[in-house]
Amino acid sequence: MKLYIVIPCYNEQEVLPETSLRLKQKMTDLISKQMISDNSKVVFVDDGSKDQTWEMIAQLHDQDPMFSGVKLSCNKGHQNALLAGLTSVADLADAVISMDADLQDDINAIDGFISKYKQGCDVVYGVRSSREKDTFFKRFTAEGFYKLMSFLGVDIVFNHADYRLLSSRALQGLLEFKEVNLFLRGIVPMVGYKSDIVTYERAERFAGESKYPLKKMMSFAFEGITSLSIKPIRLIFSLGVGIFLISIAALIYSFVRYVSNNTVSGWTSLIMSIWLLSGIQLMAIGIIGEYIGKVYLETKERPKFIVEEFLNTK
Ligand code: UDP
Ligand code: MG
Repeated sequence: MKLYIVIPCYNEQEVLPETSLRLKQKMTDLISKQMISDNSKVVFVDDGSKDQTWEMIAQLHDQDPMFSGVKLSCNKGHQNALLAGLTSVADLADAVISMDADLQDDINAIDGFISKYKQGCDVVYGVRSSREKDTFFKRFTAEGFYKLMSFLGVDIVFNHADYRLLSSRALQGLLEFKEVNLFLRGIVPMVGYKSDIVTYERAERFAGESKYPLKKMMSFAFEGITSLSIKPIRLIFSLGVGIFLISIAALIYSFVRYVSNNTVSGWTSLIMSIWLLSGIQLMAIGIIGEYIGKVYLETKERPKFIVEEFLNTK
């Protein structure tokens, strides 16, 4: 079994030496146990880093053919970087594991991934066993996100990020999804095939800073929701219907008071309904605009990434 491990890296010079060391140990161990073939590889994808990341990857490749690299022409974000790596190994791998560069994903879970693969699973999801190490805020927002996703009818694995194994046919299937707004953890379950999970303890980032500050995280979540579900538009429609029915009732009430010569007095109710309805309308237009924007972007069929250089991924 020829295994590829694909790792997107954005400004990861602080962690790369340790990550590559531990990966080398793991790969050597797996090879000696004959769980993977000795031409298995680790592919680092440099997502337009501004530090020494690419130089380090090139150096690792020079020292050891097990390490290879893909350099993107500019920063395209984690999902696209991962996709670039997956695309570059699609015809070479029997199975591919995607993981982060910062050692938050427990390397020892790989054994579990491989044994599930050998039992016939095409997709193995790494699922965090607990969120104790996260801040309250992160836990709260993450939980809210997963709940919202399932409420919106999106099939998503709880507490699974992008640490997973894909068999070659699952990977081929994944690459059939051509959308520009790619939210991998929502798309992978749609590929189908037999899947299973392996739980692991998620560590703290080994070194360096998170490349996902709050703002990026929120936009990632928003992208995920709007590219996988059209339920928000339906909810807005229901909201509109609800408000319309209430207005009809209010209209009848006012009319009855008018004909009984008992006209409703008051400016407050008037101004409040104007503000409230304007707010709701603007929000509705915003959400609909978001979807139209998505259609616009998808019709352009722009490339999701452009590769500048390959370091022998074969
Ligand atoms: N990453 C990337 N491009 C980006 C941002 C992040 O390739 O624009 C990579 C990063 O190098 C890391 C992974 O995505 O390997 C996850 O990022 P990070 O650990 O910073 O996110 P967090 O774990 O804090 O959510
Ligand atoms: Mg991380």
